[in-house]
Formats: sequence, C-alpha cells, structure tokens
Amino acid sequence: MTQQTDVFVIGGGLVGCSTAYYLSKKGIQVVLAESGQLNRQSSGQNAGSLHFQLEFRMITFWKELEKEMNALIPLSIASQKVWANLENELQADMEVIQHGGFMVAETEEELNLLKKKYELEKKWKLNTYLLSGDEAREIAPYLSKRIIGAAYCPEEGHANPRQVTPQYALRATEQGATILTQSKVTEITRKGERWLVTINNEDKYEASHVVIATGAWIGETAKMIGLHVPMFPVPLTMNVTEPVPGFIDHMIQHVGKRITLKQVRDGNILIGGGWSSKFVTKNGQLDFNQSPIIIPEAVQENCKIAAELVPHIGRLRLLRSWPGVTGITSDQLPIIGEMTERQGIWVAGGGSGFTFGPLYGSMLADLITSGSTEFEIDAFIPKKLSHLNLFMA
Ligand SMILES: Cc1cc2nc3c(=O)[nH]c(=O)nc-3n(C[C@H](O)[C@H](O)[C@H](O)COP(=O)(O)OP(=O)(O)OC[C@H]3O[C@@H](n4cnc5c(N)ncnc54)[C@H](O)[C@@H]3O)c2cc1C
Repeated sequence: MTQQTDVFVIGGGLVGCSTAYYLSKKGIQVVLAESGQLNRQSSGQNAGSLHFQLEFRMITFWKELEKEMNALIPLSIASQKVWANLENELQADMEVIQHGGFMVAETEEELNLLKKKYELEKKWKLNTYLLSGDEAREIAPYLSKRIIGAAYCPEEGHANPRQVTPQYALRATEQGATILTQSKVTEITRKGERWLVTINNEDKYEASHVVIATGAWIGETAKMIGLHVPMFPVPLTMNVTEPVPGFIDHMIQHVGKRITLKQVRDGNILIGGGWSSKFVTKNGQLDFNQSPIIIPEAVQENCKIAAELVPHIGRLRLLRSWPGVTGITSDQLPIIGEMTERQGIWVAGGGSGFTFGPLYGSMLADLITSGSTEFEIDAFIPKKLSHLNLFMA
C-alpha cells in the first residue's frame, strides 16, 4: 500500500535531519529515509569545525571565486546565530564551543592574503580582527612563534559531529516525523501533482515535496528525476591524537595550508583540514560507495603542519585516522532550493555542510512552507543549473 506524507526527505545526515526537524516543528508531516544508519557519512565523520571566516579552499582561488565569497559571507553570519542558540533549541549538550577561531599566516605573502580576506569580511560586517603573531599568542599562548599574524573570529569554534545529527533526528521524531533507516530510495516518479518515492525497490510513499539531502550522492539521486546536479564526491582524511589535559581553547586554521585543529572536550586533538584519502576502484571506475583508503603520507603531512603551528602536538601520539566522503560543487557554494525543472523537488547540500547544515534545514523548511526565506539565496538556487538541464526531458 502507498503511504502518504507532506514531505519526503532523502538522506539521514545533518541536512536531512535538520530539515525534518524544522519542518515537523512547523507541524508538517515528514518521512525521512536513510539508506544505512543515521549520521554514518560525512555528518558524523567530519572535523566539527564551525567555519565562519572564509576558508582556505576559497581564498586560495581568490581570482576565480571572489563573487562566490561575497555571496557566502551573509550565510556565515546567519549560521553563527543558529549555532549560538542550537543547544537551547534542541535542549541537548552537543559540545558546541564558540571560544573563537584563528586563521594563521606564516609568511608576508600569506599575511597579505589574510588582510585582503579581512577587508572583504569587514565590508559584509563579519566579525573578524587582524592580529599580529604576538597578539594572537596573548590569546592563544600555545601557538608557535612561526606565526606572524592571524585573523580572529570570536564566534568560531566547534561541536561534536557525533551528537548534532542524532539530536536533530530525536527531536524531529518527538515532533511526529517518521525516520526510516536501512531504507534506500531507489526510484522517484511523478504521480499527478505529487511524487512517488520507492524505498528498497519495494515500499512506496506519496508526497507533495521531496527533499534530496543525500550529500555526496546528490548527483546520483538527482538522476532518478532525470536531472543533472553537479555535486562531486571528495575523499578526505581526519586524524585524532591521544587525549591530554586541555590547552587549546580555539579552532585553528591556516590561510595558505590545509589544516584545521581543535581540542575536544575529552582532551583529544582533532586534526583535519582537507587532506585527501583515496577512492578505491571497481571495474576501472572510482567507487564512491566504498569507504576510501587512508594515504599515510597525507596523514603525516597533516600532522606535521599541526605540530608546526602548535608545537606541543608534536609530542603526542596519533590515535586514529579515518576517511570520509563529502560533496563539493564547482563554485564551492552550496546548492539550496527547488529544482526549477521539477516542481516539488528540493535539494540542499555542499559547502561546509557541518557549519551550515542547521541553517540549510531551517531555510528549506521556510522555503517549502512559505515559498521564501529571509536570506539572499540567489547564488545558491538550483536555477543556476538550468543550462545543464536544458536538454534533460
Ligand atoms: C573528513 C571530513 C571533514 C569535514 N570537516 C568539516 C568541518 O569541520 N566543518 C564543516 O562545516 N564541514 C565539514 N565537512 C563537510 C560536512 O561534513 C558535510 O558537508 C556535511 O556533513 C554534509 O551533510 P549532508 O547531510 O549533506 O550529507 P551526509 O552526512 O553525507 O548525509 C547524506 C546521507 O544520505 C544518505 N543517502 C545517500 N543516498 C541515499 C538514498 N538513495 N536513499 C537514502 N539515503 C541516501 C547517505 O547514506 C548519507 O547518510 C567535512 C567532511 C568530511 C568528509
């Protein structure tokens, strides 16, 4: 028998679960289907950094991505506010810490880039400060003398990725949402004015709206509705040290190197920042459905940079490294909104999706229920993909 719902959400990561939460909070009937277990992909594997400053991955490509950076800053400012209230909103301890974040520079060239970034952020009223190396060390004495300057954002920080999505899912179910695990969406077809979603080639649900929140698999899911959504799976690496008494209060990143680090409540130091792992191949093709393989040299280089920035880290033992797959777009911006060519199909993903996941969910809930959101989202809407889908029937 076909079951009925208002909104069907595909994907049990942070974006899907936060969307289910904000929709059910508005009294909307929601069913969410996750192909495996909740939070098992990038939403539970990530570094937990709350990035509000423009990141290395964008400022390195300043010439190519200046327009995109301008579009992203207002979203960062909005996201800060969501995180500041999130433990209160969900009535849960998720180890959200917003003690500030540093983006550090070690050379004059990096310092110039930091200044340029600061000017752009100031234009949009993002709360960042430029500090000398000594000023940064006054706030964060554990930082190396190699650091000659830093941009400081007092609202940055981190949270525990193993907590956030499950809390959203829990609260969503308390509000009446249905969450199905081991439920892979295998088909999406039009049925009159509504959509028919098939799970595991078997169970059927009819909904007015379908939200595609499948992270790195958004492109795969979009094929089910006959459209291209260019979301590229990227294999990354995370590292964690043994636990030590707390000495790092902030989130640290670098203007010119791939690094983020922070100390979590249990005392471990999480080291990441975009070092690659490696997709395995199957029949000569990259297989995005298998866990990627750790590259030992990438782990070594990632940890070496961490120890250069915070010398004490060089004395710690590495406990574990793990891979994770995230989805990125060609312009590094998220994609959020309704597919122009398929009314009632919504998509949200990409960007620093741990930082922005709660906001994407809240925006989607507003868009689906009222057709608008208070944010400027022109740079993110799927309409920008229409040229790709012009020839897709
Ligand atoms: C190692 C690493 C470190 C990162 N660090 C940070 C960070 O510090 N800060 C930050 O902001 N971001 C970070 N990110 C990015 C961030 O984790 C992701 O952008 C975010 O978690 C994406 O959430 P999501 O819900 O869109 O996707 P996911 O968490 O990947 O969830 C998508 C879900 O959809 C499910 N799914 C797929 N296809 C189907 C289907 N057909 N039917 C049903 N379910 C399906 C998948 O099983 C998956 O559970 C990092 C990512 C990685 C991998």
